[in-house]
Amino acid sequence: MRKDFLPFTRPQVTEEDIACVSAVLRSGWITNGPANSGFEQEVAKLSNSKHAVALASATGAMHILLESMNIGSGDEVILPSMTWVSMVNMVELVGATPVFAEIDRETMLVTPESIAAVITERTRLIVPVHFAGVPVDIDGIRAVAGNIPVVEDAAHAIGTYYKGRHIGSDNSAIYSFHAIKNITCGEGGMFVTNDSELEKLMRRWKFHGISMDAFDRENRGRSPQAEVVEPGFKYNLTDICAALGLNQLKRLDAINARRTELAMLYREAFKNIPEIRPLGDPSGYDFKSAWHLFVVRVDTPKIDRDTFMAELKKLNIGTGLHFRCAHLQKFYREKYGYVPGVLPNTEYNSDRICSLPLFPDMTPDDVNDVIGAIKNVLAR
Ligand SMILES: *Cc1c(COP(=O)(O)O)cnc(C)c1O
Repeated sequence: MRKDFLPFTRPQVTEEDIACVSAVLRSGWITNGPANSGFEQEVAKLSNSKHAVALASATGAMHILLESMNIGSGDEVILPSMTWVSMVNMVELVGATPVFAEIDRETMLVTPESIAAVITERTRLIVPVHFAGVPVDIDGIRAVAGNIPVVEDAAHAIGTYYKGRHIGSDNSAIYSFHAIKNITCGEGGMFVTNDSELEKLMRRWKFHGISMDAFDRENRGRSPQAEVVEPGFKYNLTDICAALGLNQLKRLDAINARRTELAMLYREAFKNIPEIRPLGDPSGYDFKSAWHLFVVRVDTPKIDRDTFMAELKKLNIGTGLHFRCAHLQKFYREKYGYVPGVLPNTEYNSDRICSLPLFPDMTPDDVNDVIGAIKNVLAR
């Protein structure tokens, strides 16, 4: 058994990251300033997007996206139930109705067909998730969406490519830089888009409804005359956080290459462990995964998923659960009357998935420890 606990993830923070954050702290300008603009420019470049708006979180981005699009009572937003529940909560909190699209049982991705099946005349927005770093068929989804906007939940997908182009290219997307994501600000998010009107609205909503940011590129500060156009929120990112994200972004390729290498070791090992089933790859398009998570399904009468996770923990192996489906959580179950069986593929996975340790500072020996512990648990 391992002597030390192997967490399911751990952010990679280098001395250079720390120096960049320290430089901001020493600069006399610690909230949104030059590091924010630098981070926005780099993420926009990576995504082939005209605009990027830095935010305190992806959840905050989703909230003000809905506000910017004037989505509320009587409107429907399509997203998977297999997503981080904060995105569903935002739909609910603006008074709109979340409508859940089914996922493919093996890839855990929503599909053009599953989305087409739930589009109605009330659908105002579609938010597919590039689950675990694997892209959905975004062209197919946009084709079935027609005039309905599609905004990609790219929280798992910084460094993900679809048909040779980075996620967010030619469309709007939301990234997260929460501590567990491939690169992190501690907490943070980014909205990318080519729509200049939407960018303007997002900037206004993220900062009190004032038509300008606190940091003006030329003036180093906001004009005291700037005024509230419509009340807004306070979702800006600090430069302390942005500096960390900006420096991490330089290592994105190396970080994702390491994740891929470790994921391939897992895939090889699971060929000989039929009780534990990794996800399958989507077919019909070319892609490169960011390998945000290594998700497996505990699919055996020998042991259930919760016991499997608990037993691994006793052997000093941490795991995560991404995600418990949203529609069967107390609030949604009670409000909408959802019962088990309405989304069979989502529920099949929700009951069986767990995320194994995967982070850039992990070693092949750590992967062997995980595999050894899994074999040990299954042999009992
Ligand atoms: C992490 C995550 C979010 C939310 O990101 P925050 O920055 O923590 O608000 C949204 N969607 C998915 C799929 C996520 O994994």
